Amino acid sequence: MTNCKFIDTHCHLDGEEFSADREAVVQRARQAGCSAIFLPAIDLVTCHTVLDTCRQFPGYCFPMLGLHPEEVRSDWRDILPQIKALLPPKSIEAPSGAVGGAACPLAIGEVGLDFYWSREFAQEQLLAFEEQVRWSVETRLPLMIHCRKAQNEMVAIIKRYAKDLPGGVFHCFTGNEHEAAELLQFDRFVLGIGGVLTFKKSHLPEVLPACVPLDRLVLETDAPYMAPVPLRGQRNESAYIRYVITRLAEAYGVSEEDVCRQTNANVARVFGL
Ligand SMILES: [Zn+2]
Repeated sequence: MTNCKFIDTHCHLDGEEFSADREAVVQRARQAGCSAIFLPAIDLVTCHTVLDTCRQFPGYCFPMLGLHPEEVRSDWRDILPQIKALLPPKSIEAPSGAVGGAACPLAIGEVGLDFYWSREFAQEQLLAFEEQVRWSVETRLPLMIHCRKAQNEMVAIIKRYAKDLPGGVFHCFTGNEHEAAELLQFDRFVLGIGGVLTFKKSHLPEVLPACVPLDRLVLETDAPYMAPVPLRGQRNESAYIRYVITRLAEAYGVSEEDVCRQTNANVARVFGL
């Protein structure tokens, strides 16, 4: 593929899956054309591992801080203030990870709702998500949203704050045309697209061009998960986004350069870079 530049907007590079060869993974990402990697936290511990990893790769890795729905338990009211304390104060008008340095969070994330495995903490998830949505309004940091088997509930919360929200990403979108349209009604939000697009049974190559304009997509890996075909099942890494770019270009009937240029512009818009 041509040497166009792209951004991985969702990569768990701080994970222990990368502890043996993180430098090499970043080196391969750079060589493949990846110009920046955004790291989502999932709990208080990973807020710190994400910040540490971003300090190791300043100007290349950027942190996003939040409490993931699957990590929400009965102690969520104690955890959230500790995460909030890591965010910039609300007086900062236009925070930006690129300007503020490696430790300055770029977004609130990943946050959301996940009722796939269990509804045990459904009520807590709803409350914790809504509080973090309010952080986005306050800090003007965009949201990196994880949502599984809970779109109705998630959309209901976003609707309540939509006119005050700076925007964000509905990460790992795998839905149908109706679900895409429902998410795109929030005009400062975009869909995060990764390896699932390349899976044999994925309907995304038809769904996306039919109802999602290219200016409403960003690229992501969700590494170490969701490796694209032909590497499906292996540990994913940012360099592999090139397979997603190739498939997106085919699906939309545009060049790979067009995919890179447009998704980079979308990242710049949503994250205020
Ligand atoms: Zn994730």
